Amino acid sequence: MKLTNKSISFEFFPTKTEIGAEKLLIVAKQLQIACNPVFFSCTYGAGGSTKDRTLNTVLQIFHATNTATAPHLSCVGDSKDAIKSLLDVYQQQGIKRIVALRGDLPSGMGMATGELRYAADLVSFIREQTTEQFHIEVAAYPEVHPQATSMENDLKYFVNKVKAGANSAITQYFFNADSYFYFVERVQKMGINIPIIPGIMPITNYSKFARFSDACGAELPRWIRKQLEAYGDDIKSIQAFGTEVITRLCEELLLGGAPGLHFYTLNQAEPSLAIWNNLQG
Ligand code: FAD
Repeated sequence: MKLTNKSISFEFFPTKTEIGAEKLLIVAKQLQIACNPVFFSCTYGAGGSTKDRTLNTVLQIFHATNTATAPHLSCVGDSKDAIKSLLDVYQQQGIKRIVALRGDLPSGMGMATGELRYAADLVSFIREQTTEQFHIEVAAYPEVHPQATSMENDLKYFVNKVKAGANSAITQYFFNADSYFYFVERVQKMGINIPIIPGIMPITNYSKFARFSDACGAELPRWIRKQLEAYGDDIKSIQAFGTEVITRLCEELLLGGAPGLHFYTLNQAEPSLAIWNNLQG
């Protein structure tokens, strides 16, 4: 399959130790050499809990791979001043892309505070403070955000984020290509024409993965759940099956016109590379 005109990107989370940071640089270089991604990105703990680690991880990857690297930035629990200071640092460091989110405060951090309530408010704030300095990505939910009051409202609020100044979007991961195509069709009818890149989660284990999918509203189809369950502790079979299922999903998405793929790597190269290699065939 031809991937040359597709936007390929990889997401990491910030590392905690020096050894973790060294390992992640190896992973990023491996992915950079094999796939020549448009960008890497690094998550941000809502409320600023990973502020320094996200910054350090972004800068290390950016310098080691010479590839655009986007910090995620969430507004929940952060003040406008804190966000502005961080934007200043990113600008000084030559960062050109940001993934702008509302974020979810980890349990135990209390009720959401902060001056910007929703991702659309953050996008407006970034544009107000920095005009066109950053390419802004926002999140999209083909299977509907778990806290959305309705699908219609969720679509409307997504459109608001784009109108506030987002350049492109990355979706929550999903296993049902129809949900993606339907989402894209609906927002296009609402006048939105930015690239909406499917988020791709390789499957590498079962129980943790199933819990995580439930929590973030990604529906794991019964046939996938049943097959993964049947493999028990046989990680090799889980991974082989997972690679096959996700490769097929990627093929369907790309053939149907998806403008690229954004891999949730969980800081590992192999699962994404296995899918990538299959897609070359
Ligand atoms: P929003 O777009 O603000 O939407 C949040 C909810 O509020 C939705 O239910 C929406 O329907 C509703 N809503 C929006 N506007 C309004 C309004 N005006 N009035 C009433 N309701 C409204 N989380 C992190 O903490 N750190 C990360 O690094 C991170 N990276 C992510 C990357 C991607 C690609 C994705 C898809 C998600 C990521 N998340 C991350 C998770 C994300 O922060 C959560 O899903 C969060 O709950 C919603 O963020 P959002 O930016 O989509 O919020």
